[in-house]
Amino acid sequence: MRPHRAFVPELSDQLWIEGREAHHLLEVLRARPGDRLTLFDGRGNEALAEVVEVGEGRLRVRTLEKKAVRREPDAPVTLYLALLKGEKLADAVRMGTELGVSRFVLLVTRHAVAKTIRRQKLERLRRIAIEAAKQSGRTLLPAVEGPIPLSRVPGVEQGLLAHPEATLRVSEVYQPDRPVALAVGPEGGFAEDEVALLRSRGFTPVTLGRRILKAETAACALVALVTAAYGR
Ligand code: SAH
Repeated sequence: MRPHRAFVPELSDQLWIEGREAHHLLEVLRARPGDRLTLFDGRGNEALAEVVEVGEGRLRVRTLEKKAVRREPDAPVTLYLALLKGEKLADAVRMGTELGVSRFVLLVTRHAVAKTIRRQKLERLRRIAIEAAKQSGRTLLPAVEGPIPLSRVPGVEQGLLAHPEATLRVSEVYQPDRPVALAVGPEGGFAEDEVALLRSRGFTPVTLGRRILKAETAACALVALVTAAYGR
């Protein structure tokens, strides 16, 4: 069996794992001294480690060897995602993390049902990103930022905007070796002037097919077209 992957803030030779991560290892996986696990720091480093001591709610581990792994896309993928209601953001963050998003930036847009996000909900999205990163073998932990008003989206080097009225396909415009910023609208879509603004910041409208997708489906499809479609 593949060793369990645990997220740690810092990869030192010896360290204590505490909090949620320790709880999971102790209560669910029943970790014991001598057990092997994989540690990753969310900044690109991974190491094989061994449990040396288990204590009350925490365990001490020793790193055995650092591993060179390549599981990240070659260039960063930023996803600008409109605030969505209910579990939709959670779904988008989980699937986007599995598919290689480096950074999620939540957007306040005009036709959105959700206008704000509570702090606890933002924290939960970050935990979902950690879980999805662990489970999918990511070595970088994606950031979940925002929400920011759409007008504050900066100019980008390469941008793709999912827009049902677009005719261009991702494969016709996307250059996979350059960083890319993606934008996906809310349930009510982007307003015309929002589309114009994003265009002026370097985003090219692209189609995701002939059907109207839910925003979280669109986010997933768009990310897959810039990572999975290129084997990255
Ligand atoms: N009534 C809205 C639908 C919004 S769907 C409209 O007509 O714009 C939510 C978001 O998913 C959209 O803002 C867009 O970013 C994305 N999306 C959904 N279907 C799409 C498609 N076929 N092509 C490109 N983007 C799509």
